[in-house]
Amino acid sequence: MQFATKAIHAGQEPDPSTGAIMTPIFQTSTYAQSGMGEHKGYEYARTGNPTRTALEACLAALEDGDYGLSFASGLAAEHAILNLLSAGDHMVACDDLYGGSYRIFEKVMGRFNVQTTYVTASNVEGYARAIRPNTKLIWLETPTNPLLRLADIRAVAEIAHRHNLLLVVDNTFSSPYFQQPLKLGADIVLHSTTKYINGHSDVIGGAVVTSNREVYEALKFYQNAAGAVPGPFDCWLTLRGLKTLAVRMRQHQENARAVASYLSEHPRVEKVYYPGLVSHPDHELAQRQMSGFGGMVSFQFKGTLADVDQVVRRFKVFTFAESLGGVESLVCHPASMTHGSIPREIREARGLTDTLLRLSVGIEDVSDLLADLEQALA
Ligand SMILES: *Cc1c(COP(=O)(O)O)cnc(C)c1O
Repeated sequence: MQFATKAIHAGQEPDPSTGAIMTPIFQTSTYAQSGMGEHKGYEYARTGNPTRTALEACLAALEDGDYGLSFASGLAAEHAILNLLSAGDHMVACDDLYGGSYRIFEKVMGRFNVQTTYVTASNVEGYARAIRPNTKLIWLETPTNPLLRLADIRAVAEIAHRHNLLLVVDNTFSSPYFQQPLKLGADIVLHSTTKYINGHSDVIGGAVVTSNREVYEALKFYQNAAGAVPGPFDCWLTLRGLKTLAVRMRQHQENARAVASYLSEHPRVEKVYYPGLVSHPDHELAQRQMSGFGGMVSFQFKGTLADVDQVVRRFKVFTFAESLGGVESLVCHPASMTHGSIPREIREARGLTDTLLRLSVGIEDVSDLLADLEQALA
């Protein structure tokens, strides 16, 4: 089955008891058992819920993985993966990360003496050099957030496997429509389903997909033991959202390309970051490991922080807000919003300056988006 078909059908058979086409919302906490140890596969809804099972099966199919697990948020999914580590272990991560990932690595895992070494995303040798005897996993986010640099998944997977490490890829920005890390050698794929997978800015959720049975069992154990599971209604909304993932991603990309090329010519724009631009330093790698360049565009505005504040107040179609991946266009100021938890010196050393704006290009009519940029930047 091809991607768009799987998004609509995988894990989503019509309900056997009624024929309902849509997976029902099984709003229940517990299930009747006919006798000791005899039940229909469900005992208690932290452990399992049929609406969640459908979502997990669909997510696994979209990443071409054997097992999917969904969580109450992307960060809950991250915490599940991080719990594969024990106190004293070490990990290597790319440096231009989602701010919340950096925060959980440093402020939560750090307290359990799990240390992280950060490497520039595109520096393949850097990952090998950062490995220590107690390193257990490598964590990539590609394209990175918000500078949209790429990490070479296949090359880093080789390094990870040579050292017996797990490779985790946060695939939130591409969605499985444009990038499938398991096929490139990753062991674990992570999503904030809050973003493109749900796509309608009305659910917080996360997911992990893997084809490694041992990893799956450990994550499944943790999911039940720690309990950060999504409710059935959120699973249902996410399933409903992801049915249209393929058409949405195609339109996000088409609009993002137009926005990126418009900004590249704009006199008030210093620099545009979009992997689909030939001028992007990782354009060639993007063509190799992704089947499209996605809907995120960042740019550096020529001016002061006060000018940037004026610009964000003027947008009429783009909304000034955190998050990304919904049908509506958003503009965000990473230094004060999504990446505010990263100390300024570290932020600036990575190129994440005060005049950087990040666009989540939605699927509105592109002429309205270009006109809005025109008037806001004027
Ligand atoms: C939003 C996001 C997360 C965290 O997900 P939540 O659903 O907000 O907990 C992780 N990684 C990336 C790349 C994100 O954009």
